Amino acid sequence: MTSGSISSVMDFESIFRKLPGLYLILSPDLTIIEVNEAYNKATMTRRDEIIGRHLFEVFPDNPDDKDADGVANLRTSLNFVISHQMEHAMAMQKYDIARTDGSFEVRYWSPINIPVCRDDGSLYCIIHRVEDVTEFVLTEQSQQEINLQNQGLKREIQEMQVDLVKRARDIQNLNADLENKVQTRTEELRQHQRILQLRNDQLEQQNKELELFTYITSHDLQEPLRTMKSFVGLLMEDFADILNDDGKIYLNYINESSSRMQELIRGLMEHSRIGHGTKAEFVDCNELLKIVTDDLKSLIEQHHATITVHQLPYLLVFRTEFRLLFQNLLSNGIKFHKPGSRPLVEVAATELENAYQFSISDNGIGIREEDFNRLFQIFKRLNNRSDFEGTGIGLAHCKKIVQLHEGSIWVESSPGNGSTFKFNLPKHPKYAK
Ligand code: ADP
Repeated sequence: MTSGSISSVMDFESIFRKLPGLYLILSPDLTIIEVNEAYNKATMTRRDEIIGRHLFEVFPDNPDDKDADGVANLRTSLNFVISHQMEHAMAMQKYDIARTDGSFEVRYWSPINIPVCRDDGSLYCIIHRVEDVTEFVLTEQSQQEINLQNQGLKREIQEMQVDLVKRARDIQNLNADLENKVQTRTEELRQHQRILQLRNDQLEQQNKELELFTYITSHDLQEPLRTMKSFVGLLMEDFADILNDDGKIYLNYINESSSRMQELIRGLMEHSRIGHGTKAEFVDCNELLKIVTDDLKSLIEQHHATITVHQLPYLLVFRTEFRLLFQNLLSNGIKFHKPGSRPLVEVAATELENAYQFSISDNGIGIREEDFNRLFQIFKRLNNRSDFEGTGIGLAHCKKIVQLHEGSIWVESSPGNGSTFKFNLPKHPKYAK
């Protein structure tokens, strides 16, 4: 095909305008003399608006970008092309484009300026060809930002890792320290426990010896007492004629005192024997209470007392001691009644989580709070013997019996308002194992 034949079928101007690249044709004085559609589209311009106008009038720098140097760079490149009539490929440029509303859009370009010379070598025009690389640059920038963020994150993670390792080491050291301390402390505790156990064993041994001593001495004391009593009896019988009234009164005192001493010694012996030679057995407390009330029949009748017993549990206890416990508490409830009133005594038991709680309440004279603890001491009496009989050993027995069952006993009362003696028995005492 010859050039003559092409021009006859094609219009080069139309072809130029449709070129896919971005082209602008400039005169040597930088007036825009031609532009293709792709260029117009990319620069948001219209052909008829820019043809015949100076390049930098149409494409000024973005006034909001104080670093903008697009105009200066392009001018330098074009000056080079004009003076040297050599093509010049510019470095990638930021050259923002004005929108129709006057604001500017960020754009990046890769321009190349090519001189077109006449046959005589003079410059005819300059082809200004650009590539819009905005998307590429922005993607690159955001990628860079992401990379920077990633690097920051990586650094943070690394720092955190270092911190974690340091903390883990600190914790390890602390743990080791703690373990050492715990070990030392445990060893100390074990040592204390051993000492305590030893002391406990010693105390138990001493207690046993004391009980044995009490038993033996009380037993041995009985003999001379008996002798004393029988001689007093003989004196009273055989020498009644020659004794004056004072002498008889003195002998009576001796007799009464020795009887009382016998009672006290018997009480002591009984106290020292509590828990000896007995075995725990299952006891129906309801039946046991029947036996106790039978035992106390004459006291009940004497004082016109009413005893109410609520449903009681079936328990593994030391039978004889348990019977003595109720005997003491019930007889006290009857004995310490208000003058002129009929004693009412109530026995009940409730089941707690780990224990059974018994209560023996009466409507008697009551007890002052300051005496609550004292009254469980051996031979401790709060009332006059002339008002109420007794040795003061009953509640000491009760305390020892409850302790034998690994429980605790206490009283709730106030003067004139009756008393309630309560004791707790653990559901699973050691002696049951
Ligand atoms: P005793 O009954 O032989 O005096 P206890 O050891 O049984 O000895 O009681 C000690 C003291 O506690 C009693 O002397 C009495 O003062 C007081 N006491 C005991 N039980 C009661 C009660 N239910 N009501 C009022 N006081 C009581």
